[in-house]
Amino acid sequence: FSISMNQFELEDELGKGNYGTVRKVLHKPTKVAMAMKEIRLELEDQKLNAILMELDILHRAVAPEIVEFYGAFFVEGCVYYCMEYMDAGSLDKLQGAGIQEPVLARISGAMVRGLKFLKDKLQIMHRDVKPTNVLVNRQGIIKLCDFGVSGQLEKSLAKTNIGCQSYMAPERIQGESVNNLGTYSVSSDVWSLGLSIIEAAMGKYPYPPETYANVFAQLTAIVQGDPPTLPDGFSDEACDFVARCLMKEPTRRATYSELLEHPFLIADSKRTDDEVDMRGWVEMAIEWREKERIKAAVTAELEL
Ligand code: ADP
Repeated sequence: FSISMNQFELEDELGKGNYGTVRKVLHKPTKVAMAMKEIRLELEDQKLNAILMELDILHRAVAPEIVEFYGAFFVEGCVYYCMEYMDAGSLDKLQGAGIQEPVLARISGAMVRGLKFLKDKLQIMHRDVKPTNVLVNRQGIIKLCDFGVSGQLEKSLAKTNIGCQSYMAPERIQGESVNNLGTYSVSSDVWSLGLSIIEAAMGKYPYPPETYANVFAQLTAIVQGDPPTLPDGFSDEACDFVARCLMKEPTRRATYSELLEHPFLIADSKRTDDEVDMRGWVEMAIEWREKERIKAAVTAELEL
């Protein structure tokens, strides 16, 4: 069946991304809470239709580690994309609360399985692995979203993405400067995975902007410098796992199958749900996020 705007009751804004706004909505016919992403494209209907057709393969992207897709439609040059609502939001806003190794391993395992599913079952790469695209719910479930299924959509969005945090692998950064396309391969996603895991462990982006004079210096550090490592307190297995993701030379990076067999994830698979309190971690992280939000609001108020 198809969905359209009049079936929705709009609720709170959940966040803003590079390309649009995400809102919580209620799908009235089914009473399901969803997240609706608005992507402003200003394209003619024919192109928007082509994008919707490409997005259709998302209906086959059904896996425990992938955010469920409900459907998409367009109104006045905007694409609206409806997906499962994840009630704890994205990992980037939770990670600063601190993370114990078993929780980090759970998150890593879910990410690897999600990426492997996309590759093996849908023959696609994610292309945008980063903590904002890792969503969490209060059950402690971790899922991936925002992967590149639509070439048309990607083309239309191209190059607005000049954020100050790059998760791109060194070869992609170098490739972009050469042919503006980058040389993608699955191993580029593995780099982004490793970087995201380190960020989750550190609670901040591993190439902090304050260390570099400008974005160019930061990208140079990614391309020419040593890869980042986990902070103190994590096991040798954990450190080796991220090192296997963050090899500068793409062909030396681990494959998803190798990562699943790595002692870091084997140890995770042996721990029961009682031993890894994902719900407890989410509760704690949400509380921390709420306190940070209040602190930031007070600071903003004082500065006025
Ligand atoms: P970006 O472009 O940076 O990847 P998005 O536009 O995808 O960001 O999302 C913006 C924010 O909206 C996210 O950081 C997240 O906090 C929130 N969000 C996105 N999708 C969902 C969802 N399905 N459920 C709950 N929150 C979401």
